[in-house]
Amino acid sequence: LDVNFAPYINFKGEAKGVVVVLHDFTEVRRLEKMRSDFVANVSHELRTPITSIKGFTETLLDGAMQDEETCRNFLQIIYDESERLYRMIRDILDLSKIEQRRIALHVAEVDLQDLMSSTVALLQDQAQRKQISIQLPKPEPRITLTTDKDCLQQIILNLVTNAVVYTPEGGAISLELHQEKEQVEIRVKDTGIGIPETDLPRIFERFYRVDRARSRDSGGTGLGLAIVKHLVENLHGQITVKSTEGKGTTFTVTLPINW
Ligand code: ADP
Repeated sequence: LDVNFAPYINFKGEAKGVVVVLHDFTEVRRLEKMRSDFVANVSHELRTPITSIKGFTETLLDGAMQDEETCRNFLQIIYDESERLYRMIRDILDLSKIEQRRIALHVAEVDLQDLMSSTVALLQDQAQRKQISIQLPKPEPRITLTTDKDCLQQIILNLVTNAVVYTPEGGAISLELHQEKEQVEIRVKDTGIGIPETDLPRIFERFYRVDRARSRDSGGTGLGLAIVKHLVENLHGQITVKSTEGKGTTFTVTLPINW
């Protein structure tokens, strides 16, 4: 809190009171802290893949190259870690653009069933490799929404990608649509590992992961849900999550029908 005061003197030169100006810096400080935490987190997160890229390259240069199988193994790790680094940088840039609302929205009528099936098509391969079935919403009645198609596609893509990643082989994912008066609910359900109750309130935070090792193995950046949350807010919507450990998770995105 910043306090300034000055005596209040009237035209006759008599002291009549004091003018006190109170300036509340709490919000400014909070934002500053968020920003510096973010920079610290980013540096830490970027260092992890770089450290392993360096380590494995050094070992190769030190002689491990003689053995072809070791060589292949290490190169695969180096490749995977560079990919992850690439995704992280992309996600960090996306997130900062979305947060600052530097993304121009193109609002138009969107057919939700179409959008969902074209989005799921992008993940079909990945799902099939794990024998996970993905069920789309009923085709009728058609549900349309005035919104930004690319943003909504990114939201669905991130949620379904997570559902595939955090669902064991043979599991099932289903996408549902419900229209209620002035809003539409989009649900992404999975029969995956679930999220412990204590972690639920934090999963939309940047870089927050329930199980770091598992997320890293799956190539995760810890930014997918933070991006989703901001995108949903940019579309004037809300997102909620329900989960039972070992049983599965349901994300519900609620969007207004009209912009
Ligand atoms: P990540 O890149 O690690 O997947 P996200 O921001 O997309 O980052 O998700 C944050 C964390 O939330 C994940 O690391 C995971 O622990 C948890 N999570 C997200 N979606 C699911 C899901 N469908 N089932 C179980 N856990 C999930």
